[in-house]
Amino acid sequence: MARTILVYAERRDGALRRVAFEALGAARRLAGDDGTVHAVIAASGGAAAGAAEDAAALAARGADVVHIADDPALGAYAPEAYASMLGAAIEAVRPDALLLGHTASGRELAPRVAAACSAGHIADVIAIHKDGEGDDISFTAPLYAGKALQRRAFAHGVMWVVTVRPNNLPPAEALPEGGKTGSVVELRFTAPTLLTTLRGIVRKTSGAIDLAEADIVVAGGRGVRSAAGFEPLQALAKALGGAVGASRAACDAGYCDYSMQIGQTGKVVTPKLYIACGISGAIQHLAGMNQSKTIIAINKDPDAPIFSIADYGIVGDLFEVVPLFLEEVQRLRP
Ligand code: FAD
Repeated sequence: MARTILVYAERRDGALRRVAFEALGAARRLAGDDGTVHAVIAASGGAAAGAAEDAAALAARGADVVHIADDPALGAYAPEAYASMLGAAIEAVRPDALLLGHTASGRELAPRVAAACSAGHIADVIAIHKDGEGDDISFTAPLYAGKALQRRAFAHGVMWVVTVRPNNLPPAEALPEGGKTGSVVELRFTAPTLLTTLRGIVRKTSGAIDLAEADIVVAGGRGVRSAAGFEPLQALAKALGGAVGASRAACDAGYCDYSMQIGQTGKVVTPKLYIACGISGAIQHLAGMNQSKTIIAINKDPDAPIFSIADYGIVGDLFEVVPLFLEEVQRLRP
C-alpha cells in the first residue's frame, strides 16, 4: 500500500539531529515503493541557518519533498509556533502519518498535533512491524517504565502520529549517486502570537556528544562515591568517543548534574554499548537503558540486579577495573 508520510526533521543548534534520519528511514519503509515521503524543517534566517543544506541532505536520503518553514517565531523552540508550523505542513501534505523523534520537543509536539488533528498517537516506538501477508503495520513501544513491551496498531481511517526513540531504527541511507533526489519547497505558515518568549538558555552540559543519541555511554552510580570519582569514567568515555551518564543516586548525592541522569525520571538511552559502573540496577534506572544493544556492568557485589540484564558482568572494584579498561582501549586505539 502506498502511503504519504510526513517527517518532522528536528534540528538542534542549526544541525539536523540523527533521529531525523532514523524517522526518515522509517517513513521510507512505511510509505512503500509508490508512496511519498515529505520532510519539514524549521529555520529562522534561511540559508544562513543551514536550512538549505539540511534540506538537501534529507532529499539525498529519500525525502521526496522537503518543506522549509522559515520564520522568526521558529528561531528558538516555542511549542505553539512549532505545533502551528506542523499543522500547516499537515494541511499542505495531508499525510497518512506524521513521524517525529521521541526527543524532548518531539514528546511535547506529538500529542499537541495529534489532538489538533484528531489523529491517533503512539509514542516512543522502538520497532515497526509489517504484519502477515497484507500491509498491516504495528508498532512496539515500552510500557510500565520498560518492564513490558506493547505492540499496537492504529484504527483504520485515522491519521497516525508516531514518535520514534533515538538510536533504535536504522537511519535512511543515501540514495545512489545520479539518481532522482527530492525537491525543496517553502512552507508558508502564520506564526501564532507566542504566549511565552525565550530570554536565554543556560546549558548545563558542555559535552559535545548528546547523551540521548550517543553510541557509547559510560554511566556511574552511587558506587562512584564522589564527583572526582567520575573522572576515570569521563576518561573512558572520551577514549571510546562516548558520553557520560549517571544514576539518580549519583545525581542526588551531588556527584554530577541531573542532566546526566538516566532512567524513568531521567533520559532514555539506547546506545550500542552501555557500561554501568557502580550501579545496582534498580528498575527505575533500567527503564532508561535496558534497550541498550550491549550492556557491561562493573559492580563489586556479585548479586547486584544489574548483572541480570548485563551481557558482560565484571565483579570487581570500579576504581581498579575502569583504569584497566581505559588502558586497554588506549592500547587498541592509540
Ligand atoms: P545504589 O543502589 O546504592 O547502588 C550502588 C552500587 O554500587 C551497588 O550495587 C554497589 O555494590 C556498587 N558499588 C559500590 N562501590 C563500588 C565500587 N567501588 N566498585 C563497583 N561497584 C561498587 N534511579 C535512576 O537511576 N534513574 C531514574 O530515573 C530514577 N527514577 C526514579 C523514580 C522514582 C519514582 C523512584 C522512587 C526512584 C527512582 N530512581 C531512579 C532511584 C532508584 O530507585 C535507585 O535508588 C537508584 O537507581 C540507585 O542508584 P545506584 O544504583 O547508583 O545506587
